[in-house]
Amino acid sequence: MSLIAEKTDATIANDAVTESELLSNDAQGTANDTYQLCAKILKDTFGYSEFRAGQMEVIAQVMKGQDALILLPTGGGKSLCYQVPALALEGITIVVSPLISLMQDQVQQLTAQGVKAAYLNSSQDAEEAQQISAQLYRGELDLLYVAPERLLQSYFLNSLQQVKISLIAVDEAHCVSHWGHDFRQDYRQLGRLKSHFHNVPFIALTATADHATQVDIQHQLQLDNPFVFKGGFDRPNIRYNLLAKYKGFDQVVTFVKQQDGAAGIVYCNSRAKVDDLTQRLQSAGIKSDAYHAGRDTATREFVQTQFLKDDLQVVVATVAFGMGINKSNVRFVVHHDVPRSVESYYQETGRAGRDGMPAEALLLFDERDAARIKQWISTGTAADRYDIEMHKFEAMESFAEAQTCRRQVLLNYFSDYRQEQCGNCDICLDPPKMFDGTTQAQQVLSCVFRLKIDTSVQYVIDVLRGKSIRKILDNQHNELSTYGIGKEQSDTYWHNIIQQLIHQGLLRIDMTMSGILRINESARTILKAERLVQLAVPKLSVDTTKRNKTEPVNIDRQLFAKLKHLRKQIAEEENVPAFVIFSDATLADMTEKLPASKSDFIGVNGVGQTKLERYGQAFISLIEDYVATR
Ligand code: ADP
Ligand code: ZN
Repeated sequence: MSLIAEKTDATIANDAVTESELLSNDAQGTANDTYQLCAKILKDTFGYSEFRAGQMEVIAQVMKGQDALILLPTGGGKSLCYQVPALALEGITIVVSPLISLMQDQVQQLTAQGVKAAYLNSSQDAEEAQQISAQLYRGELDLLYVAPERLLQSYFLNSLQQVKISLIAVDEAHCVSHWGHDFRQDYRQLGRLKSHFHNVPFIALTATADHATQVDIQHQLQLDNPFVFKGGFDRPNIRYNLLAKYKGFDQVVTFVKQQDGAAGIVYCNSRAKVDDLTQRLQSAGIKSDAYHAGRDTATREFVQTQFLKDDLQVVVATVAFGMGINKSNVRFVVHHDVPRSVESYYQETGRAGRDGMPAEALLLFDERDAARIKQWISTGTAADRYDIEMHKFEAMESFAEAQTCRRQVLLNYFSDYRQEQCGNCDICLDPPKMFDGTTQAQQVLSCVFRLKIDTSVQYVIDVLRGKSIRKILDNQHNELSTYGIGKEQSDTYWHNIIQQLIHQGLLRIDMTMSGILRINESARTILKAERLVQLAVPKLSVDTTKRNKTEPVNIDRQLFAKLKHLRKQIAEEENVPAFVIFSDATLADMTEKLPASKSDFIGVNGVGQTKLERYGQAFISLIEDYVATR
């Protein structure tokens, strides 16, 4: 009896196994079908042969009707997480986006890929908006981008009930949260959407959300047990460089000249500096213009458009510039002045290299700038913000002063801990070389000591280097024993040594006396030769012409330049930015694959069917001619 019972149980168990196997086979089959459909869309429309980490997982969940929250860094490939489902699912995907320029960029790029996409926002006249609404109701669109205030108008919400909605994507989702750094009131209202679209999956996307913000996004948008995907914060293609700032404008000009015409943004912390630096770059023959809140809207828009179209190489700007710039081929971001927080620094540098191609970030750092900012925070910050602001700035300052891998410091700040050094920052590429700098330290310290209060950094350098300038002669500082003891080294060299002495706490900056140098108590033992000082050999420039670790090895620079030229011609004919035609990454892949036919050309990363038809022949011919004359 018991045997039979056991047998029966075993049989049941066996049956159950078979059934669940069958079920999972079925599910497997559906998953495979979904994957194949999406992979086909990825190639045919977007021209890519592989999904990036996380993309397919997210897409699979969304296609099953699951809500999702995606955290991926800028350039991580968030857009495809809703654009692929938008094309795979029946109906229309609504994308909520905070900025008109972002919507326009996205729609322009999708249209160039042959996707039926449009936007509705306040930049359009009634007639244009009417036309788009008509397309929407006729079911002619796959994606519609809308601003939150438009979407939430009750007539619009009601009329959307007549349309089959496949998915709702909320881009820049951190804007819904008070905890996010870019809170928007009209985004907050988006919580109402869920009740209007019960059975429609929601996908929220952001590049910047700490834990509190993530929880708040889920809560505010009423996401239903969402699938959460968090990519790391790293932007491996961006090389982080730091240089002690000395004659910053000259350093910027030199750096920009090294960039071989590539596009970039230079941030300054005041409008006046933006204007002055723009002039300097212009007189050095660099196509550049200024962007800040002091210029009128039309001018600002003009500058932005010129930059998007590669008609300007450099935009010099305050922090007012950048949000909503989707330009994928920004190759460098320079900070002439140290930002107030690591978050701002990371967001601003993150505007470089969205296409995944090598990009440079350069920060010019001066201990005096840091002292000035701390003073502003002390005097100009409300009591309840003081600790936060100071803490944020001190983190930024430690990043600048760190002598270890820059990327590790940045990623640690965002709790994305890494053991390995990155190999693609100034510290990794050219580690600080320490030397016994006791003599140099004594020279500087005793010079500051003797000059008493005439101790602006530049004046100390002038005395050390024995310059015969008027002020020195008038003050008879040429008679000091320290006059000229450092003449073998450059101004930049001494400036760097002084920065290190401040950083080591031997000197300090006295902001009450317009930033002059003062000797700290701890310097006494050095002056009395009771202890040694280790210093790093000063780095006087960054060489960004060295190969970036992430640069493709086989890139043919000459052909690349020709391809860029052709891309620009086509972009001008079509009146769109060049990167809308092809990204830098796609052109680089062409130089590697040298496609000779249309069937080769479709194999290039970033070439889908529409672009193959539109531009294939022109690029193939150019490559053919180039190869023939090589
Ligand atoms: P995000 O919105 O996260 O900032 P995007 O969606 O704009 O990033 O993507 C950044 C760049 O990466 C774009 O040029 C995009 O075409 C490209 N990209 C996205 N997914 C892939 C992929 N699977 N393969 C190759 N390139 C991709
Ligand atoms: Zn590093």
